[in-house]
Amino acid sequence: MIVSAVNPAGVVLAIDGPASSGKSSVAKGVARLLDFDYVDTGAMYRAVTWAVLQEGVELSDTDAIGECAAQVAPALVWSADPNRVSIRVGDVDVTAEIREPEVTAAVSAVSAVPATRAALVARQRQAVDQAVSDGRGVVMEGRDIGTVVLPNADLKVWLYADPAVRAARRVAEDQAAGRASAMSIDDMAADLARRDAADSSRADSPTRQADDAVAVDATELTLAQVIDAVISLITARELPVHGALKEQS
Ligand code: C5P
Repeated sequence: MIVSAVNPAGVVLAIDGPASSGKSSVAKGVARLLDFDYVDTGAMYRAVTWAVLQEGVELSDTDAIGECAAQVAPALVWSADPNRVSIRVGDVDVTAEIREPEVTAAVSAVSAVPATRAALVARQRQAVDQAVSDGRGVVMEGRDIGTVVLPNADLKVWLYADPAVRAARRVAEDQAAGRASAMSIDDMAADLARRDAADSSRADSPTRQADDAVAVDATELTLAQVIDAVISLITARELPVHGALKEQS
């Protein structure tokens, strides 16, 4: 079943999960179908990390990282075409740069700094407040959305998949995107495990499934099936996505 909606009204969805579980693709797909705003919080942490690296700040210098995070205002530019969602820092489009291995290697350290999180969480909540006050729905994805950023979200999804499947999908994605950094599946699995361990063991807002989140195992599902599962959860809760959830072929 593929559905679309018009006139969503302030519904807030939180999608969390480990690295490369498909959160971004699912969140973009749901946002496109429901005409919701979309916030990729991982991209925001990556943009701050890009700026930290540009400035030559040491990853051990948590004060300087916090200052950088307070100054950098990453701006997501939404497009209904999921391949054209972009992110800017000031005038610079950093959409491609934030996926480079240098940024991926440093992002867990930067995002573990409490001042980084305080700055970005404030921006994330602002984005949701704005959407809701304008009567728009929003889907936000990350690691701490259901637990910390939006504890009152209307629906929380914890999206996960077998680590080997996540690694294989991620390598395929990198290759499809023509990223020179494409790793072997084993190296990718090790890299995802390292990042998940760092993100779930940090003191401030560790990656964790919210108690009231619905777990969705994407291991055996296609992207369309996961999107469908999320839409089914929304309809089962009778969330006011206003009118017009309608079937398409
Ligand atoms: O989602 P993505 O893999 O792009 O996230 C990159 C990194 O940003 C994560 O590994 C994590 O360190 C950080 N992050 C976070 N909190 C979020 C989203 C991402 O700490 N809500």
